[in-house]
Amino acid sequence: MQRPIFLDGHGTTPTDSRVVKAMMPYLQEQFGNPSSQSHLYGWEAEAAVKLSRETLAEAIGAQPEEIIFTSGASEANNLALKGVAEAYFQRGKHIITVKTEHRAVLEPCRYLESLGFEVTYLPIQSDGLLQLKDLEDALRPDTILVSVMAANNEIGVLQPLAAIGRICHDHKVLFHTDAAQAIGKIPLDVKAMNIDLMSLTAHKLYGPKGIGALYIRRRPPLNLAPQIHGGGQEHGLRSGTMPTHQIVGFSTAVELALTELNREAGRQKRLRNRLWSSLKQLDGIILNGHETERLPGSLNVSVEGVDGAALLLGLRSDIAVSSGSACASGRTEPSHVLLALGRERDLASASLRFCIGRFNTEHEIDRCASTVCQTIEALRQSHQSFKDKPNLDKTSGNTTLSIN
Ligand SMILES: *Cc1c(COP(=O)(O)O)cnc(C)c1O
Repeated sequence: MQRPIFLDGHGTTPTDSRVVKAMMPYLQEQFGNPSSQSHLYGWEAEAAVKLSRETLAEAIGAQPEEIIFTSGASEANNLALKGVAEAYFQRGKHIITVKTEHRAVLEPCRYLESLGFEVTYLPIQSDGLLQLKDLEDALRPDTILVSVMAANNEIGVLQPLAAIGRICHDHKVLFHTDAAQAIGKIPLDVKAMNIDLMSLTAHKLYGPKGIGALYIRRRPPLNLAPQIHGGGQEHGLRSGTMPTHQIVGFSTAVELALTELNREAGRQKRLRNRLWSSLKQLDGIILNGHETERLPGSLNVSVEGVDGAALLLGLRSDIAVSSGSACASGRTEPSHVLLALGRERDLASASLRFCIGRFNTEHEIDRCASTVCQTIEALRQSHQSFKDKPNLDKTSGNTTLSIN
């Protein structure tokens, strides 16, 4: 059986074979611990980590010593949020974030609330963008941190980072951004954008899972309380043996993405627009999020008159996409991002998140478009006949849907 077309790149991406090739030597021959100072194995691993750190720093306009490797963006977000809260609580206990953040930001915020911090969750406009006025109004003398994601993982919307950075800078409040979906897809410059902390991950841009980084501004220095204590690696900010192969994979993935950024962005945008043009031929298809301020490969739509679970069920043998629901404690809940946009619960559940990536072809997009259109039409027709025969039970299957 043919495998479904993969269009779920906001969840994760395959590791590029060029990345795998760059990683291999560090799993077998050059397997040393980068912290081993006394022999060749340690030295060569250390040199590889150093080079990767330089590559990553350069990619975001930072200095190498401002990059701390973590297990991914979740850990980087936790280190940023809890690390700042713990280091600055005497200055203030107020944090500002946005309702549409990833759970790896929202949950640390909830945790900090349980410790006595106050968190403001800013609303968004119907296009998914934050209103700068809302941010300015929310700032208080005791605000210590603002955390706003660069690109949303469900609707792909890009927040105005530079403008947010300027406001935070002017108010002397730290600015953290979760750039897990943005790195390698849009240009990022921590200095120009006044970013103090930035979370990154490799597996959304064709690198391996389990490696990420936190950019931490050093000039002027910023205090951060470590969350993992141990051997004192990464200036004591993140203990644990450094996974050389993962780090090399991460920097190789970033390097490739930046080299190909312009070409790929143009190609993905063209395919995304092609998919959108086909889908919007149907009635009752609603675009979620800003039409242009979004990642090039991103498309999120709500579908009127169909059940979300039935829609995914109808698609899953042909295309791998996710819906606007997340499985929270066993119950399927509509996405908090789509609800924040103002979508009704039914429309939020009946949505599809597409991410067109490096390995998708025009042929695949055309196949996807026709499969989606046919499935929607078929579901609407059967729904109509159910309506005609009210005795039939139309409960949908117990599928577990999830969004990462
Ligand atoms: C995927 C993702 C994360 C989590 O990253 P991990 O590296 O899997 O921990 C956090 N934030 C956003 C916006 C993401 O898309």
